[in-house]
Amino acid sequence: MNSKTPITIAYGDGIGPEIMKSVVAILDAAGAGLSYEVIQIGKTVYEKGFTSGIEPSSWESLRRTKVFLKSPITTPQGGGFKSLNVTIRKTLGLFANVRPCVSYYPVVQASHPKMDLVIIRENEEDLYAGIEHRQTQDVVQCLKILSHSGCEKIIRYAFEYAEQHNRKKVSCFSKDNIMKLTDGMFHRIFDAVAKEYPNIATDHYIIDIGTARLATRPQDFDVIVTLNLYGDIISDVAAEVNGSVGLAGSANIGDYVSMFEAIHGSAPDIAGKNIANPTGLLQGAVMMLVHLGKYDVAATIQNALLKTLEDGIHTGDIYQAEKSSARVGTDAFTEAVIARLGQEPSILKPARFSAIETRKSVAQTVQRQQERALVGIDVFIASQLKPDDLAAQLTSLQQRHFTLSMLSNRGVKVWPGGFPETYCTDLYRCRFEATPEAHITNADILALLGGIHSQGIEFVKTEQLYTFDGQPGYSLGQGQ
Ligand code: NAD
Repeated sequence: MNSKTPITIAYGDGIGPEIMKSVVAILDAAGAGLSYEVIQIGKTVYEKGFTSGIEPSSWESLRRTKVFLKSPITTPQGGGFKSLNVTIRKTLGLFANVRPCVSYYPVVQASHPKMDLVIIRENEEDLYAGIEHRQTQDVVQCLKILSHSGCEKIIRYAFEYAEQHNRKKVSCFSKDNIMKLTDGMFHRIFDAVAKEYPNIATDHYIIDIGTARLATRPQDFDVIVTLNLYGDIISDVAAEVNGSVGLAGSANIGDYVSMFEAIHGSAPDIAGKNIANPTGLLQGAVMMLVHLGKYDVAATIQNALLKTLEDGIHTGDIYQAEKSSARVGTDAFTEAVIARLGQEPSILKPARFSAIETRKSVAQTVQRQQERALVGIDVFIASQLKPDDLAAQLTSLQQRHFTLSMLSNRGVKVWPGGFPETYCTDLYRCRFEATPEAHITNADILALLGGIHSQGIEFVKTEQLYTFDGQPGYSLGQGQ
């Protein structure tokens, strides 16, 4: 009879095989009760011509076991290759990236001994939608896409996490002073959801000052929830502030499948030398055991790890002559952790996990459908003309139902009333607003575009303007 829990593992690239071997040895020695399905990812798979870094057959294993312990991979340089992490996160709907950053001071040197925070990052949307275009000789764009449902899901997850882990505060990081529709929505949903958790304190930081504070006063933070790109950046800031990228693990949580890993990369500079620190991947494995409901064995491993660090048995990345008792390689570190299974740390706080650590599924509010009305169109036009000349050409068109209200260039209004000092590139946004009495449809838009085309003016993209319950669903031009 095999009562072991199957999980999928991948040994990855660089130091990946060394640290995965170490972690599997510790899991087995602790009696974690796991069986392993091994899949190939990374360099060898990219080299076989799979541009996503994973073979199609591997998805079956991931969807069957629903739990993936993953070593880092080496991402090939140059175009044509897709990021494996982004592909896995999005294909399997791993919407939440959870990254605890805890100081192990005084055992491991840290500039902020009281740091104990968790970063919860939205994992699927934002600029990582990867939708990029080159539109003219001069201009490229990358679309930042957020959904109300995606924002609400991650924000609710953060509050649930805080409640279940007895955390006292959730901080929201965004840039809503600039991006009022996208980041503004994230902030608004945060404020609305916060009301449902009156026992948890909240605050909001603009991402720039928030990042600066995180780097200098990390002890002020408890749980941070933020968007994908900001979360990516601040996670590394927090890890670096905390001492070593070799120490932390992270979880990528989905409704169906979850993935656990170290936060660091494949460290090709130290690969094959038996000196890599397996702690980051081991911390990922402990998060995985908690996720699987194997609380006791998770605590046994975490406490053996803390005791090993406390006993001064350190790999080179955290070794310090005055704090460490032995500088060891990966294998010796692994043996030291195994030898301490069943022991607890006395300086660092021993780990305890219980059933409340698991995520309950969180119901989302049903969004009220708002009245959507078409009120105009932004036409993006490739042109070398000066703003006044382009505007003159466009206003000479017979535009039934529409008024040309603005030309902007790189978001700044340049007509009417632009300044000659404003630099103009070769892509204009030309805003046509429907006259108040007109109830326009896409047929009117097609007629307008037909008129523009017949004048020999080249449009490269359009974006319809809608109001929702009378409120504009589009931003004004800067200076409008
Ligand atoms: P890296 O994290 O691999 O290494 C940064 C520095 O930290 C190096 O000096 C390295 O020796 C050290 N380091 C990292 N992990 C360590 C450990 N466990 N023990 C001791 N020292 C450790 O970052 P990088 O050099 O920028 O990236 C290397 C490769 O990894 C790149 O191809 C990158 O794309 C990839 N990468 C993969 C992942 C992933 O698979 N999740 C994440 C980040 C980077």
